[in-house]
Amino acid sequence: QGAVGRTSGAHLPVVRVGLIAGQFAKPRSSGIESQNGVSLPSYRGDIINGIEFTEEARIPNPERQAMAYRQSAATLNLLRAFAMGGYANLENVHQWMLGFVKDSPQGERYRKLADRISETMDFMKAIGITSENHPSLRETDFFTSHEALLLGYEEALTRVDSTSGDWYATSGHMIWIGDRTRQADHAHVEYCRGIKNPIGLKCGPSLQADDLLSLVDILNPANEAGRLTLICRFGHEKVADHLPRLIRAVEREGRKVVWSCDPMHGNTITLNNYKTRPFERILSEVESFFQIHRAEGTHPGGIHIEMTGKDVTECTGGARAVSAEDLQDRYHTHCDPRLNADQALELAFLLAERMKGGRDEKRMAVNG
Ligand code: PEP
Repeated sequence: QGAVGRTSGAHLPVVRVGLIAGQFAKPRSSGIESQNGVSLPSYRGDIINGIEFTEEARIPNPERQAMAYRQSAATLNLLRAFAMGGYANLENVHQWMLGFVKDSPQGERYRKLADRISETMDFMKAIGITSENHPSLRETDFFTSHEALLLGYEEALTRVDSTSGDWYATSGHMIWIGDRTRQADHAHVEYCRGIKNPIGLKCGPSLQADDLLSLVDILNPANEAGRLTLICRFGHEKVADHLPRLIRAVEREGRKVVWSCDPMHGNTITLNNYKTRPFERILSEVESFFQIHRAEGTHPGGIHIEMTGKDVTECTGGARAVSAEDLQDRYHTHCDPRLNADQALELAFLLAERMKGGRDEKRMAVNG
């Protein structure tokens, strides 16, 4: 739904990359967690140890890696079946309405969009273009992605492509380097420079322009378009201080990168003992991202979010305002707070509008 909304806004193809089938390790800012005077090793994601606050659960268990592998493989099978088996058929665009979004303001907006797509499909059918003779109308590409944090696991799944002789991480299509592990002379960068997959690099407020340029050289020495995505996560108040300086440095050196916005990780706060993200701060960082790119004359190329199609209460705000008190109702995440389906669709529509704005400006520039 999100991708259809964006394509209709931007009139550009959207590459769908799911943060799914591989995201089991969790970078932690502190190695120790304390509760009521008791300190234990931090939970590091289901691929390493358990979330329960007991000594036993927090012991790393290598068997968990085999479990994560099997679960990722099963999820990939399901995604493949959905992407290729008719679920993504644009003729079904009306049936994609998620249960609880039906009665929300986003439901109404989505219905209007679906009506427009259906009318276009009817017109195309009348001139002989159908999902039977054009598979792209009924199938989609869906790629997977995660932070390549646990290098032992990643290395065990690294393979040589026998046709090209190149090395690939096969744990996901795209993998990224986290904001805490992006030091140029450390192991995560060393691993990622050796594989041919598309790579993401998280850029937080502490990243200096010179360090970014060294990392871009290491990770994309051939300056290949599409190889490197810079996933910027500054926080809504800091994005205006940091993004322009990084864009200018990259542009000055003529380096080809995809600029992506992660409005989640710089906007995490704690309310009533829950880690949460206020939706208005997420929207504000996305808005600033678009405005800054427009001002710099560069292309806002992607968005990186944590979301679920379920009716959870993990991020506050949105059209059906989730309050700090509501957080306890359906706070299901073991990891980071996610947008619920309503909030994610609201964000998708905002993006479509901003991208439409950019499209009209481009047209005006061409016409002018
Ligand atoms: C993430 O995207 O899951 C993440 C933890 O990001 P960062 O490294 O930017 O904190």
